Amino acid sequence: MAKLTVRDIDVRGKRVFLRVDYNVPLEEKDSQMVITDSTRIIETLPTLKLLMEKGGRLILAAHLGRPKGKREVTMSLAPVALKLSELLGKPVAFVDDCIGDKVASAAAALKDGEVLLLENVRYYSEEENNDPAFAEKLAKVADLYVNDAFGAAHRAHASTEGVARIVTRRGGLAAAGLLMERELKFLGDELENPARPFVVILGGAKVSDKIKVIDRLLEKADTILIGGAMAYTFKLAHGVKTGKSLVEPDHKGTALAAEEKAKLRQVNFQLPTDTIIATPVDTGKLNKKGKPVYDLTQIRTVSGDIPDDAEGFSIGPETAANYVKIIQSAKTVLWNGPMGMFEDARFAAGTNAVAQAVVDATRNNGAKSIIGGGDSVKALNKAGLGDQVTFMSTGGGASLEFLEGAVLPGVAALSEK
Ligand code: ADP
Ligand code: MG
Repeated sequence: MAKLTVRDIDVRGKRVFLRVDYNVPLEEKDSQMVITDSTRIIETLPTLKLLMEKGGRLILAAHLGRPKGKREVTMSLAPVALKLSELLGKPVAFVDDCIGDKVASAAAALKDGEVLLLENVRYYSEEENNDPAFAEKLAKVADLYVNDAFGAAHRAHASTEGVARIVTRRGGLAAAGLLMERELKFLGDELENPARPFVVILGGAKVSDKIKVIDRLLEKADTILIGGAMAYTFKLAHGVKTGKSLVEPDHKGTALAAEEKAKLRQVNFQLPTDTIIATPVDTGKLNKKGKPVYDLTQIRTVSGDIPDDAEGFSIGPETAANYVKIIQSAKTVLWNGPMGMFEDARFAAGTNAVAQAVVDATRNNGAKSIIGGGDSVKALNKAGLGDQVTFMSTGGGASLEFLEGAVLPGVAALSEK
């Protein structure tokens, strides 16, 4: 079921309603909102340039922040229009609304290859409610629909789903942008028939967040390596003491069922054999959010029970060395979720070792390496290795749902090839 992409469609002279992910971080400086990271804008340039070269008249729609149906000046897309114009080296028209007469006349004024950015679609609560009348208003200026916002595709909102449905109902086409195309290729097609060995590394905070992904990947993977706080629920299920570690006692059964399935399917399912722990000591102070601040003292490695007063924060060196060896001989690697609390340098070694092994497998073993999940991408970038893997998803929540095998509404609404 391949989806139509921007490569396949003729857009000359047509108004292309293009949903992008311009949910960029902003900071207030001298009472002006300034973009602090333009990555998301830069990433859409290939799709924009292709459509501009093909002579499309581009009408860009996006959300920014959570204005909850109100005009929130700090969440205006106006600074994005300026930045985009600078990056394209061409003027970008901007309308301070996403529906109505102003939009209609700005869209009518577009010539082939010109670009118009609409104001934040979430200034209307109808956007997130996927209100049909609102979607009709958005679709007024759309001959064709293109979605390049993979990170929003798991939501059935008016601009991600409703407009696509309306355009196709009218006999128009709805296509994936180049970014979206890559996400579908690497998180979808490439994992359907992966080169083997296919090694999956799963970490992060909670088993409950990842169980659907574990379940689905148990049907594809040769090896699954478990790390992060998630591992402690498995340990707990085996009767190992986990001290003050982050665990989900209600999910002990889930954990055991996953291991059982791994056995049945002959998947090499590995849990950490050692853990870096620390003893938290209350400082009596509160942080900005009013939560108690703990000093993490007596950092050490254990291989069995975690003492009652201690907490696990990462896989240990023995586990890391074992995982590294397995990863280095993989032909396909999927990594979702850090191996520990990597944000704190004292607990980042295990995650960094895994990150380096993923890079080594890519470079030395010809492996395809695919990274999904917001914090895994952060960890890889923090280690300075972001550009040395095959693919890093831009999706966050959307990539997790896609890996679970869920049908994303924003993808489902696109035309088939
Ligand atoms: P992703 O966004 O890649 O899917 P998650 O959101 O599931 O990953 O988990 C990432 C978070 O889990 C990180 O903020 C990390 O600090 C935390 N984490 C991982 N291991 C531990 C641990 N042992 N103790 C506490 N937090 C952990
Ligand atoms: Mg996360």
